Amino acid sequence: MLTDTHTHLYSDAFNEDRKQMMQRAIDAGVERFFIPAIDSGHTEEMYELEKNYPDQVFLMMGLHPTSVKENYEEELAHIEKQFKKRSFYAVGEIGIDLYWDTSTLAIQQDAFKRQIQLAKKYKLPIVIHCRDAFDEVFEVLESEKGDGLFGIFHCFTGTKEQAEQALSYNMKLGIGGVVTFKNGKIDQFLNQIDLKHIVLETDSPYLSPTPYRGKRNESSYLKLICKKVAQLYTISEEEVARVTTQNSKEVFSK
Ligand SMILES: [Zn+2]
Repeated sequence: MLTDTHTHLYSDAFNEDRKQMMQRAIDAGVERFFIPAIDSGHTEEMYELEKNYPDQVFLMMGLHPTSVKENYEEELAHIEKQFKKRSFYAVGEIGIDLYWDTSTLAIQQDAFKRQIQLAKKYKLPIVIHCRDAFDEVFEVLESEKGDGLFGIFHCFTGTKEQAEQALSYNMKLGIGGVVTFKNGKIDQFLNQIDLKHIVLETDSPYLSPTPYRGKRNESSYLKLICKKVAQLYTISEEEVARVTTQNSKEVFSK
């Protein structure tokens, strides 16, 4: 059994064939789907998805760094309101993204920090989005470390040193399609990281693994990521599926 720890199944990219796409994933052995939030515009779609797949779909709640704009106080209030109403499996995805916009760094840092504190309050993991911002993300994690800080560094694409630093903050590494890319770099050192620190993800509909690179991603492709990780660790795909699913259960308590 495989666990996709990061998949945007509510995305408009799946509006035409969501049911068939879900069935392809289930047929490929993917039985658990953890769904990161982006912003309040997707909340109702996430609840709808959960209603349709109550035994397979598990929701997170949070404000994505590229959605941190002038109205972010309202967005954070929306998130807190959801947490008062019901439970979630993580606060995510949250973090810092300096690829799309550097002008919002200060409010991104503020939103990241406050959502980490929200996660601690509810004793939940965080799921981190980090793009062109390792130093800035680590600076916030350093100030919040210990004391209930844990989670997943989603779509990890850094160096071995950055991987080790992420582990030092109680993070697991979310490994996705990049591990299958020719110059994705993480395949060079990944097997030096104990498999107990690794979880698998697709980040659908983004970041399709080879040979679908550049096309729409979907959760059934998780098996291609699992296959590549098995090759890197020279163990069976079944073993990778078993250990990484176990790791996901530790993080999400589910
Ligand atoms: Zn994502």
